[in-house]
Amino acid sequence: MSAPNMDVLVSLAKRRGFIFQSSEIYGGTGSCWDYGPLGVELKQNIKRVWWRDFIQERPDMVGLDASILMHATVWKASGHVDNFTDPMVDCRECKRRFRADQVGDMAWLHFCPATKGNKFTIPAGGPCPHCGATRTLCPECGKGELTAPRQFNLMFKTFMGPVEEDAALTYLRPETAQGIFVNFDNVLQSMRLKLPFGIAQIGKAFRNEITPGNFIFRSREFEQMEIEYFVNPNDRMDGRPADEAIHDTWIEACRAWFVRYGLAADHMKFHEHETAELAHYSKRTVDILYKFPMGWSELMGIANRTDFDLKQHSKFSGKSLTYFDEERKEHIVPFVIEPSAGVDRALLAFLLDAYQEEEVRGEKRVLLRLHRELAPITIAVLPLLKKRPEIVSTAHELRTRLAKRWRTVYDDTAAIGRLYRRQDEVGTPYCVTVDVKTVGDREKGEAGDGKVTIRERDSMEQIRVPLADLDTIFGRLMGETAWSEVAAAYPRAEG
Ligand code: ATP
Repeated sequence: MSAPNMDVLVSLAKRRGFIFQSSEIYGGTGSCWDYGPLGVELKQNIKRVWWRDFIQERPDMVGLDASILMHATVWKASGHVDNFTDPMVDCRECKRRFRADQVGDMAWLHFCPATKGNKFTIPAGGPCPHCGATRTLCPECGKGELTAPRQFNLMFKTFMGPVEEDAALTYLRPETAQGIFVNFDNVLQSMRLKLPFGIAQIGKAFRNEITPGNFIFRSREFEQMEIEYFVNPNDRMDGRPADEAIHDTWIEACRAWFVRYGLAADHMKFHEHETAELAHYSKRTVDILYKFPMGWSELMGIANRTDFDLKQHSKFSGKSLTYFDEERKEHIVPFVIEPSAGVDRALLAFLLDAYQEEEVRGEKRVLLRLHRELAPITIAVLPLLKKRPEIVSTAHELRTRLAKRWRTVYDDTAAIGRLYRRQDEVGTPYCVTVDVKTVGDREKGEAGDGKVTIRERDSMEQIRVPLADLDTIFGRLMGETAWSEVAAAYPRAEG
């Protein structure tokens, strides 16, 4: 299935409380986004499973949470002050700003002299079909000349302390990685680690992007999940330098992680950086691209940063940042492999891949087939009749009980069919319905059967289960047990 149009997703994200434009009531910023009640759950789930899978479950990984504001020299040593730039051009007419290296990839507006100045939008890179001209002017307004490219540093400047003077100048971090490098020795000594080992961090990063856009794909404030995996470059694995072999292992581990949580394997591909494209610190970089609606674009990068960062920080700080190789009895500077993923881009890809429209009994059903561990709501408890106090109170009690272990909500604001559709649209994998049979009818002297209906999102199958079994059932479903296996043990309920 092909990914939905971005506008469809942006609209769903706003309507259902996933993502709002920042400062919307003031006209919005267009370059920053706020995560709403469901968005924040989805985002936390992505970070939680990433942290669990790559840090907590591995013996060779530890975590870190470094500050966003750091000593200004960090950014001189890392090369960001001198190199973290993009070439930009400005339109002299409409004053819009573009990345010089991207302006040729945009569709452009053209007032065609061969058709009395009629306005056309010409596809990127192509000539006007009427007059044959190629783009020279501003692609957006079609009128202004563009300035010559100038280098623009993407770091946000700020001042530490009460005086706005050069001595107090520092930057909002443009990546989380440097917080790890400057703490290398602290972590090494305090945790008594042996190579190879990794330090991971999740946190905000800030880049004054020239052309933010494509929803949360490129914003000026975003979150990263980064690992710096330190390797002894003198070691050998599979007949080659350990850093090269371990780099390949991480590339595959990252790809497999995205597949595990729902991305279709054929919606991803690798991009091997050409020598000219490599960052100043990199020996080899491979990006994982995802088939976003605007085309194949970077989801994450996995770089071999060599010993560049540790050596630079050692040089600028005067502190030794080495590791003592017991076997060879020598101090070495480790090489580092860096899997670096954007939380927001991952979230966008998971949403795009999960989005599905289908027809059910002549009606359109929109659903997010989010992985059960990512879905913002795991269980929705729904009363079939909200006028029956016993049904409502049983449903509330159930929500309270299940919410201790899973994100569980109660909803009685519509008829059951509509409630199911709403939960499908936000990706809730399981709904539990409490009905008359569950609680019985005291007036008629009928006892309840103490059973509820569980409905599974993707198959829409429903099973009838005792209330007492719910914790075990959801424990299994949220573990490795498939729905079909759990469902086989219980009678089907009518849909
Ligand atoms: P791009 O080429 O798209 O600008 P990059 O190569 O500069 O990205 P890295 O410096 O490798 O990106 O950052 C690692 C990851 O952080 C990216 O793969 C992406 O997922 C995320 N990221 C980087 N910049 C942004 C941004 N402006 N908005 C959202 N996520 C970002």
